[in-house]
Amino acid sequence: MFNYFNKNNFFFNYNLGSKTWFGTGGKCFCFITVDSKRTISIILKYFKRVFPVFIVGAGSNLIVRDGGINGIVIKLGKSFSQIKLYKKESILEIGGSTKDFEISKFCLKNNITGFEFLSGVPGTLGGNLKMNAGCYGHEICDNFLECEVINNVGEKVVKKKKDITFGYRSSTLGDDIVISAKFKVNYAKTKTISDKIKTIIKERKMSQPVGVRTGGSTFSNPKNHLAWKLIDAIKYRGKSCGGAMVSEHHSNFFINNKSATSLDLELLGEEIRTKVWDKYKIKLEWEIARIGKYKKI
Ligand SMILES: Cc1cc2nc3c(=O)[nH]c(=O)nc-3n(C[C@H](O)[C@H](O)[C@H](O)COP(=O)(O)OP(=O)(O)OC[C@H]3O[C@@H](n4cnc5c(N)ncnc54)[C@H](O)[C@@H]3O)c2cc1C
Repeated sequence: MFNYFNKNNFFFNYNLGSKTWFGTGGKCFCFITVDSKRTISIILKYFKRVFPVFIVGAGSNLIVRDGGINGIVIKLGKSFSQIKLYKKESILEIGGSTKDFEISKFCLKNNITGFEFLSGVPGTLGGNLKMNAGCYGHEICDNFLECEVINNVGEKVVKKKKDITFGYRSSTLGDDIVISAKFKVNYAKTKTISDKIKTIIKERKMSQPVGVRTGGSTFSNPKNHLAWKLIDAIKYRGKSCGGAMVSEHHSNFFINNKSATSLDLELLGEEIRTKVWDKYKIKLEWEIARIGKYKKI
């Protein structure tokens, strides 16, 4: 069984937090980069009986708590980052670890429309499906047909669109690990696609903080409300808690001002949730996934 692992993809006491976009948080007991479905199945079938197992993508929507994770964290390796276009069937197959900018670049090159919005999202396909990533009127579930997953007992399963409920920044994928997914293809002229991408990049630069340690939108927008407006309404734009700060540029983005801990980020978030609830009786829900234990102080 251990032939599936080698010292290059297997690390103990791994500093996971520093690898997330926020760059905060603790270590995990074991970090494994996996390059075969068989290895994932083995981990879920056997190791999961002893340790909790987590999957991470690019860590762009993730807070790892300061006490770390007493479990195994897996990340899909390069062999899961293939993109295949089946021209006859008009189907695009994308590997679970493929980065969003690679997807959008591939689509531009092949005149495929509907994926332009990914040019500004810094995640991977697996994270996108789990979170139903979206912006500028598009969501990853729009052209989605089916995905291959490995479930929490290590079995390979194909899930069709009808098997998954996609909501606003959510899905019912649960503990399933997304290996790859298929999407319906629609074509457009190169110029139309590249113009859309340029507009998205320009708008992002104007409305969001760039070149900082952030996790994107902190809270999902409550029904009929915008999270950033509620945060502005309680006057939290620019406010800090330890090294964590609400961005001056976009108040639903938190920033690690170099010295933040994950606790600073969560305390800032909880303070905002309480104030918004007290003032408007509106519940802000975390969009950012938070995993691991709090550190004993
Ligand atoms: C600057 C910035 C801008 C952003 N803009 C947007 C935006 O416009 N729209 C938007 O929707 N999001 C946005 N995000 C958030 C984030 O990029 C997306 O949610 C993205 O889809 C997360 O992908 P990831 O690979 O980084 O996932 P991670 O952050 O690593 O993980 C997020 C969740 O997905 C799960 N996951 C990861 N890989 C897999 C897999 N293979 N199978 C199953 N589950 C998996 C994890 O367990 C976790 O629960 C932004 C983030 C940043 C930092």
